[in-house]
Amino acid sequence: MSESHGPHIPKDGEDSIFDKIVKREIPSTIVYEDDLVMAFRDIAPKAPTHILFIPKNRDGLTRMFVAEERHKAIFGHMLWAASEIARREGLAEGWRLVINDGPNGGQIVYHLHMHILGGQKLGDF
Ligand code: IMP
Repeated sequence: MSESHGPHIPKDGEDSIFDKIVKREIPSTIVYEDDLVMAFRDIAPKAPTHILFIPKNRDGLTRMFVAEERHKAIFGHMLWAASEIARREGLAEGWRLVINDGPNGGQIVYHLHMHILGGQKLGDF
């Protein structure tokens, strides 16, 4: 057992909480899925629309800071998926795409994910 009180960072081959969502071991409300990404509603929404989406295969991407050349394609795909999810959710009035990275970025779950926030005028930050 680790003595650390920091966030749990899954090792390669170890499932994150989001891997368990992909495997349907943890229930979620899935709003979009394709071969590469899955999107589901945040369990503690911070806006009327609050969706998380993830690479289904973490492939080492615990956080954005550790991205490597091989991850370029999944980042491109995720940005396209964000636009598709926003359209499906009817967010034509505007929305926000957020990545919390690392301790100072407020990251809690160490499986790369993006937040889509919308459904109201969002505050400044
Ligand atoms: P971050 O790591 O700070 O970017 O945020 C992780 C997000 O995951 C938070 O907004 C949580 O509410 C959300 N979250 C944690 N567990 C679950 C879950 O089981 N289902 C859906 N959302 C979750």
